[in-house]
Amino acid sequence: MFSIDQIYIDGAFVTPHGEERFELFNPTTENVIGTVRLADADDARRAIAAAKRALPAWSRTTLAERAALLRRMHAAMAAREDELFAAVVQEYGAPVAFARWTSRYAAQVFLDAIDAMEAHDFKRQLGTARVVMQPVGVVGMITPWNSNAGFIGSKLSMALAAGCTAVIKPSEMSALQTRIVTEALHEANAPAGVFNIVTGRGEVVGAAIVESPDVRKISFTGSTAVGKGILRAASNDVKRVTLELGGKSPTIILDDADFATAVPMAIQAGFMNSGQACIAGTRILVPRARLAEFEALAQAVVETTVAGDPANADTSVGPMVSRKQWERVQGYIRKGIDEGARLLAGGEGRPDGYTRGWLVRPTLFTGVRNDMTIAREEIFGPVLSIIAYDDEDEAIAIANDTSYGLSAYVATTSAERGARVAARIDAGRVMVNTLTHEPKAPFGGFKQSGIGREYGVFGLEAYLEPKTIIGL
Ligand code: NAD
Repeated sequence: MFSIDQIYIDGAFVTPHGEERFELFNPTTENVIGTVRLADADDARRAIAAAKRALPAWSRTTLAERAALLRRMHAAMAAREDELFAAVVQEYGAPVAFARWTSRYAAQVFLDAIDAMEAHDFKRQLGTARVVMQPVGVVGMITPWNSNAGFIGSKLSMALAAGCTAVIKPSEMSALQTRIVTEALHEANAPAGVFNIVTGRGEVVGAAIVESPDVRKISFTGSTAVGKGILRAASNDVKRVTLELGGKSPTIILDDADFATAVPMAIQAGFMNSGQACIAGTRILVPRARLAEFEALAQAVVETTVAGDPANADTSVGPMVSRKQWERVQGYIRKGIDEGARLLAGGEGRPDGYTRGWLVRPTLFTGVRNDMTIAREEIFGPVLSIIAYDDEDEAIAIANDTSYGLSAYVATTSAERGARVAARIDAGRVMVNTLTHEPKAPFGGFKQSGIGREYGVFGLEAYLEPKTIIGL
């Protein structure tokens, strides 16, 4: 049992003014593994004041000074990779392959931010005007539990590169990861107040950050429902917002696809991070002429997908983060059956051999219509839907018939067809025959998947305001 009792304000670990204790669980065993003392609105205000005091000096640092700090932060985070890996597995049950990727990525983003900063024109001459990019100010950052360390790193590194200071409100369910990240970043010796980390409840600490007139921008990653509330609250003083929200991403299998690679890719796109990924490809669109062939192969892949203890190397689907999320996913599986979809693999309950733990059976439905609940709502678990289509136009229409627009996947043996379909899909990122990430390219959503972009030069610009100076 561990007990996390401190938050980080103005360059120091301090005891929160808030007194609430929040229990942390191991989702594989359902056992309580520790507690965290939560910050309150008072703590949020102290953190914001510290970030505000640190802003004038940090915003005037040279790019070389910023790069030096980001390099130290990278080194400190990289040194904690193994510790972070263990925390991610224990705290939310990430399977080892994803846990390794995300704990490495949480360090790598600091180098990516240096690249973006060095590639950016902070001063441009446009006609008679000099246009300078000015840091937006104090930034409030709010992260979800499903890649908490990675999002703290990607948001903070870009904000610092832009010359902003930050108040970070990590997910209250990620306190172990947050402790490791905070200790690492502290070792990097940033000027006091440049970043502050206050773990607390969203509706308390998150809301205090969003409401503060001293915070000029919010960068939020989380659910669409909470994101809409943040957008409304941010309108009070016209704060800048970047919102990275939910998804219901399509995987379009074109009729020329090589099923030997397309089927495993489609299932992997759906089950990444145990299905608890905003970019998961949860609607698999399959040409009707090849439906039976696809169903048989996909059923075999899902039936052999190992769900269970994430510490085992062959597990690719670990537990859901909480009992509430487990019950929610079970509800969706029931709903799919009730609405007439046909189960090809999985179903309600736990995987064989488990009587405890928030484990879900990897589930694949077919005969799904795009107007069914399981095709419309983000389930955030390992539950995939096969939807048949007749021709390419219909595939694109179904792919775009969603309130989301975060990612899309296309499987084809023709690069030309891949490009043609990608051009017609309304999503922030389209991946043709691949699941690899490109940190230099923008990431974010169309429609209700968000506003704005993160990563690379686009992500850097999200923390900058252009200022036009004429007459010099
Ligand atoms: P969530 O929206 O419940 O919580 C996200 C964060 O917001 C947490 O830190 C929470 O404490 C905080 N919060 C809650 N209420 C708040 C309020 N009223 N004011 C301010 N902050 C508040 O989401 P979650 O369950 O932690 O994460 C899962 C969701 O995140 C999914 O919908 C997923 O798709 C989305 N997500 C999106 C991306 C992306 O890049 N688009 C990435 C990962 C996760």
